[in-house]
Amino acid sequence: MSEHITAIPQNGLPEDEVFRQMDSYRVGDADWRQAKTWSLVYHYSDEHTDFLKRAYGKFFTENVLNPMAFKSLKRMETEVVKMCASLFNGGPDTVGTLTSGGSESLFLAVKSARDRARKLRPLVRKPEMLAPESAHVALEKACHYLGVKYVAIPLAEDKRVDMEALKKRINRNTILVIGSAPQYPHGVIDPIAEMGEICAAKDIPLHVDSCIGGFVLPFMEQIGRPVPLFDFRVKGVTSLSADLHKYGYTAKGCSVMLYRDMSYLKYQFFVSSIWPGGLFGSPSVPGTRPGGSIAAAWAALNKIGMKGYQENVRKAMEVTDRLIAGIEAIPELKIISKPAMTLVAYVSRDPKISIFAIGDQLAAKGWFIDRQQRPASLHCTVTAHHATVLEQYLSDLRTAVAHVKAHPELADQGEAAMYGMAAKIPMRGLVNVQIQKVMEKMYSGKDQPITLDDPSSDTDETGGPTAPKRRGWRRLIPWSA
Ligand SMILES: *Cc1c(COP(=O)(O)O)cnc(C)c1O
Repeated sequence: MSEHITAIPQNGLPEDEVFRQMDSYRVGDADWRQAKTWSLVYHYSDEHTDFLKRAYGKFFTENVLNPMAFKSLKRMETEVVKMCASLFNGGPDTVGTLTSGGSESLFLAVKSARDRARKLRPLVRKPEMLAPESAHVALEKACHYLGVKYVAIPLAEDKRVDMEALKKRINRNTILVIGSAPQYPHGVIDPIAEMGEICAAKDIPLHVDSCIGGFVLPFMEQIGRPVPLFDFRVKGVTSLSADLHKYGYTAKGCSVMLYRDMSYLKYQFFVSSIWPGGLFGSPSVPGTRPGGSIAAAWAALNKIGMKGYQENVRKAMEVTDRLIAGIEAIPELKIISKPAMTLVAYVSRDPKISIFAIGDQLAAKGWFIDRQQRPASLHCTVTAHHATVLEQYLSDLRTAVAHVKAHPELADQGEAAMYGMAAKIPMRGLVNVQIQKVMEKMYSGKDQPITLDDPSSDTDETGGPTAPKRRGWRRLIPWSA
């Protein structure tokens, strides 16, 4: 790798030189164009991407910080929210905002519930949010930022939230309950209707995280695939998030946060009247907001249309069905729980055959692999784009299983060794310390190998030459999806 640039060049570079350098940096990136990634990228078609760039470009310069300045964008945001509210069977009072992504939507869900409780239930001193263990980690992060206690509820055998455990944990400090439609790790949908009944009876807000499923499940239902009720048709559901920048196939940086009515949304807002810079009202986290992402979302929904999404979901589900059948045909592997949609997670049935070693074998063939824990598993976010590579993936998977079966020692090498070690450390706190160290190295600005030390061994704090040179821990950090 060439030296890092560490200062702004005195004289700007010619355009083609800038692009040449960018392209040279790209070598070694995950190969999404050949559909070798099973997360992170949602590719509809090259033509669609060009279309999105044009739509984004039309409003590239505009700023939605002050919606009064660019009424066009405010109108588009309102229309996208309305289109989504109708997709999720909201009523005439359903309202919401666009956000920068799923994490911001979830942050706002927690913020609104916290501030609603502050106002309506002032006796709550230690607010708690209840979320299934499978709920997205951004919720734990939101609670961390917002001073809300995060309570993880165990899962039932089928990986949906354990309703008995959930009921037991509800108390007078509970300000919000989370259900996922579906949850990311195993692709199953929590029993939203049952959860809604309980939450409605106790007047506790219920947020449905449909960040990944929001632009799949409604279309599955429309093409006649079974989908349990998960949206505003369930009375107790007070808010719902869906990421337009995943299966909505728009530019990155767009999710929708919907509320049943203004009595919930109003707690999302921040207002101030003391700033010398002017009277201030802000609907969500950012100040400056890119007009392009709203424009692209509006353009995507209007161009693809219901029929387009239905057709795309039909294809993605065909690929998913074939992937599941292919994995189930390998006797050494097992699907964790039958997924509701396009998220497939599988484990090794035989403890002597390391699923992470299988992952390493696939990675060596150029696949970008998502590894999970508890249980140790591999994860695929399937899209229609994977149709062309599915047979290759299954064939590489069969080869990988056979190879790891013949070479069990592979469990102690490569990333498999790292993940195996993490799984064996009984104290999550120790693992957290190691992840923290990885983060500090990654953001130190220095080109040092990202290694993770065995917490039980004496390690060099500086990550210098005495630190064990083990690679691969970076993907322990959950930035998948
Ligand atoms: C992706 C995802 C999120 C977070 O969304 P980002 O856009 O990555 O911030 C939240 N919940 C679920 C279920 C997801 O899959």
